[in-house]
Amino acid sequence: MSSKEDNVKKLKEKLFLKRENGGKTISKEELDKSFSFAEGYKDFLNKSKTEKESVRYALKCAIENGFEEVDKNKKYKPGDKVYKINRDRNIVLAVIGKNGTKNGVNLAVAHVDAPRLDLKPNPLMEQHDLGILKTHYYGGIKKYQWTTIPLAIHGRIVKRDGSFVDITLGESEDEPCFCVTDLLPHLAREQMSKKMSEAIMGEDLNILVGSLPLEGKDGSDMVKLNILKLLNEKYGIVESDFISSDLEIVPAMKAQDLGFDRSMIGGYAHDDRSCAYPALRAILDCKNPEKTTLTMLTDKEETGSDGNTGSQSKFLEYFISDLSELDGVSVRDVLTHTKCLSADVNAAYDPTYPSSFEAANSSYINRGVVVTKYTGSGGKYGTSDATAEFTGEICNLLSDKNVIWQSSELGKVDIGGGGTIAKYVANMNADVIDIGVPVLSMHSPFEVISKIDLYMTFKAISVFFGNM
Ligand code: MN
Ligand code: MN
Repeated sequence: MSSKEDNVKKLKEKLFLKRENGGKTISKEELDKSFSFAEGYKDFLNKSKTEKESVRYALKCAIENGFEEVDKNKKYKPGDKVYKINRDRNIVLAVIGKNGTKNGVNLAVAHVDAPRLDLKPNPLMEQHDLGILKTHYYGGIKKYQWTTIPLAIHGRIVKRDGSFVDITLGESEDEPCFCVTDLLPHLAREQMSKKMSEAIMGEDLNILVGSLPLEGKDGSDMVKLNILKLLNEKYGIVESDFISSDLEIVPAMKAQDLGFDRSMIGGYAHDDRSCAYPALRAILDCKNPEKTTLTMLTDKEETGSDGNTGSQSKFLEYFISDLSELDGVSVRDVLTHTKCLSADVNAAYDPTYPSSFEAANSSYINRGVVVTKYTGSGGKYGTSDATAEFTGEICNLLSDKNVIWQSSELGKVDIGGGGTIAKYVANMNADVIDIGVPVLSMHSPFEVISKIDLYMTFKAISVFFGNM
């Protein structure tokens, strides 16, 4: 190489933004760690298909790791570990810092709800000798993707006596599963000529749940009666109990390694479990931080974060307020100096659909944790745009700690977009930036992520917490 070429190479090395497959630069040791971290993650995915199951999983881990339910009347010392649960659908875990909440807290937030089909309040119908459950889909889905795949029912039914029963049915091979039927191609000429968004409509997402009439009896609705009899025997419920239920229909598939090289994981609800799990693991690892450090797992992100279990509720603020009162600090000051990683996924560049992405500002599988300075759509509408200063602070931290990371926005400017919970934390006057895992086929029943990106998201949150 001539010295001139050498200089050009050096100058490029010095000045250009590096954008490459993390598989080229990651150490053997960290690649091994990525693969073993993925094993724990798959276990979490398979055991936590709903927000309640995720919170339950997190609670079990918290208790095993010495976290105790927070007590407002107790005095905490650095290193103490506390948690609080909101309606079984949110959990916040905290490790008390050496300086407590005095200089603000470090916070990671992620959501544990995912797109799915919810049952309607009065869902059970019999139509031409088939039992079906009517649904109202939850979150942004491409409806056709939810037909003809095995589905499971998860959720809670509150009965007339006030007790409740938690249901999981369709996950193991010895249990029945469910599905949404679709029209055979032979008869689908009209359906196939429709727009994709209209080929399967919301009212077509009916779950097939039975076909046998109640034994030996004549009359109408005998298939429905048979199903209700089975449900009554198994769970003690009657038809009106569906009204007081949160029943969620989710893909029955298990998370699985993907690719000849096993570098990726296919599964349901990587959005946002692939960030929630790293955030959970990072707080479990957190020991004696400088500032009080928190992980919050929240609900209802996919429908706008509204309601008392969404991140627009006061739950997190109240929790931080309780901790700051114990420290004798005003919650306003704590929130103002709070730093937050809003851990949520971004869309990975899909070479099959290049026209929807702007290649220079997309995230890519294996290029590490994605830093998303702003979300929103169409002129940055509805965004939380992290300041240059906070963005710089986080990017420098990631680089200094050898976290493989990339920067991205979500798709082409005028093509769509989306938001995260970043803005709701930012509205409390905290510094917030989105970081997370790039996902292929986001919001589908079988999303894809890479093990390197998953591990680097864990590492990013860990270095932010001061664990590494
Ligand atoms: Mn998300
Ligand atoms: Mn989402």
